[in-house]
Amino acid sequence: MRSDEIVDVLVIGSGMGGATFAAGLAPSGAKIVILERGERLVDSDAVRDPRAIFQRGHFRPQESWLDGVGRPFNPGNYYYVGGNSKLYGAVLIRYRSQDFQPIEHLGGATPGWPFPYEELEPWYGKAEALYGVRGRLGEDATEPPHSQAFPHPPVPDEPAIAAVRARLKRVGLNPFSLPLGIDIERWLKRAPTTWDAFPDAGHGKMDAESGGLAEALRFPNVELRTGVRVERLILAGDGKRIEGVEAVSDGERILIRAKLIVVAAGAVNTAALLLRSGENGVATRSDKVGRHFMNHNCSAVLAVDPRTVNDSVYQKTLGVNDFYLSDGKGGPPLGNIQLLGRVTAPILKSNLTWAPEAALGVLSRRTVDWYAMSEDLPDPESRVTIEAGQIRLDWKRSNWEAHLRLVSAFKERLRAAGYPIVLSQPFDRRTPSHQCGTVRLGVDPLEAPVDPFGRAFDHPNLFVVDASLLPTSAAVNPSLTIAALALRAADHVAKNDI
Ligand SMILES: Cc1cc2nc3c(=O)[nH]c(=O)nc-3n(C[C@H](O)[C@H](O)[C@H](O)COP(=O)(O)OP(=O)(O)OC[C@H]3O[C@@H](n4cnc5c(N)ncnc54)[C@H](O)[C@@H]3O)c2cc1C
Repeated sequence: MRSDEIVDVLVIGSGMGGATFAAGLAPSGAKIVILERGERLVDSDAVRDPRAIFQRGHFRPQESWLDGVGRPFNPGNYYYVGGNSKLYGAVLIRYRSQDFQPIEHLGGATPGWPFPYEELEPWYGKAEALYGVRGRLGEDATEPPHSQAFPHPPVPDEPAIAAVRARLKRVGLNPFSLPLGIDIERWLKRAPTTWDAFPDAGHGKMDAESGGLAEALRFPNVELRTGVRVERLILAGDGKRIEGVEAVSDGERILIRAKLIVVAAGAVNTAALLLRSGENGVATRSDKVGRHFMNHNCSAVLAVDPRTVNDSVYQKTLGVNDFYLSDGKGGPPLGNIQLLGRVTAPILKSNLTWAPEAALGVLSRRTVDWYAMSEDLPDPESRVTIEAGQIRLDWKRSNWEAHLRLVSAFKERLRAAGYPIVLSQPFDRRTPSHQCGTVRLGVDPLEAPVDPFGRAFDHPNLFVVDASLLPTSAAVNPSLTIAALALRAADHVAKNDI
């Protein structure tokens, strides 16, 4: 095994957490090496071909995990430079300030965070600047205070969606412009498709590669190495310091030593990596690594109006938070609703395989496609474990009744808004798009593996900076919160460790 080098900081994973952390730490001058198991996602016909993406799973990994009862499945977890953000919907939204406090949900209570929203607010602002977020303040009553405006005005509604906005307003809802990381002109120049779940090959999506990583690589002290899969962390003899990592690159086993190790492999793989390291895992004193896995309860809600054509191309510009803080009748919170990227016939066909695509085309032309999302609560029995070397993901859904109420309340409003047919379908359990919580931050070493900055309580030179950290999932998309936490951790490391 080669073991010829020592770097200052090794970052494992170039996704939202790792790339953003590297961007934050780069100005310190520390020698930072980012190890990424995937390669750069290159342009090809497939990147805008919905049949390749949704029907043939062209970009999905050649990997299988086990589910809670031991059945293998192919996870929708993407291994490219930029990680899952390469295919994300680029909704870059802050947690609401209430999400940092304990909340009573229909399905149980969430713990508060160890710090309030105000602590993260400046970092949210910096993350919005780094990812060039488009949005507008003042449209959403649940939006927490901002110390600065969004860097860019919102992505415009297409005419069909402007009409949807007006229809929802007429039935008393308050649709708002989704905060988005997309340069829509550049995106559409490549091909007229939406960006949600379509991979970005450098055409205007602000993802971890084009945002955080591009910024980090402007600095000569930052290096990206692709095709390097980290297999385990190496513990020093004192059982405290992490000496380095063992990885596989080009079929060769390599050892890289570092002063500081930063794990950002995504919530499932970060937990798996810690569990595979050392004799009994690393950072496992609290027995919380891999536990509290959360993934949001999500459904597609299709609103059909046979009299109205939806000729939008990208669609995804509206959100609705009228049921976010309560059900609207003083009851518990239900969740967030946002438009999906435009669901065309080939995309529908990937679920409704028996239906002719032409018929689905007729349906989709008259449909507006929504995404309803409810909070998944932290449950220690919802967990990632390793079984004979393989990842086992036993996701225990929680708070499902709140999700059913959200879908039902929204359907009622859609019918009132003139959509006589409203269909819904829960999202596939095998797609851990919003995976989080497996190495949660906290103040008590018996309850959490890492402190509020992501530093392992038992390993002072080990940080975690990805979605694993989130102690609650809230009911909004996670990436901006991951990015804000990563920038805050980088600042902490620059001040204390470099
Ligand atoms: C289809 C889709 C749509 C989404 N839409 C949105 C959205 O609109 N808004 C939003 O906020 N979020 C969205 N998400 C979720 C978002 O992409 C993730 O929350 C975010 O990318 C998580 O960041 P991360 O750093 O935790 O992990 P990732 O971004 O997944 O990064 C982990 C990285 O680590 C690498 N890696 C893993 N294991 C190893 C290893 N052993 N060695 C080396 N490298 C390794 C991976 O290849 C990857 O690059 C979406 C996700 C999907 C799949």
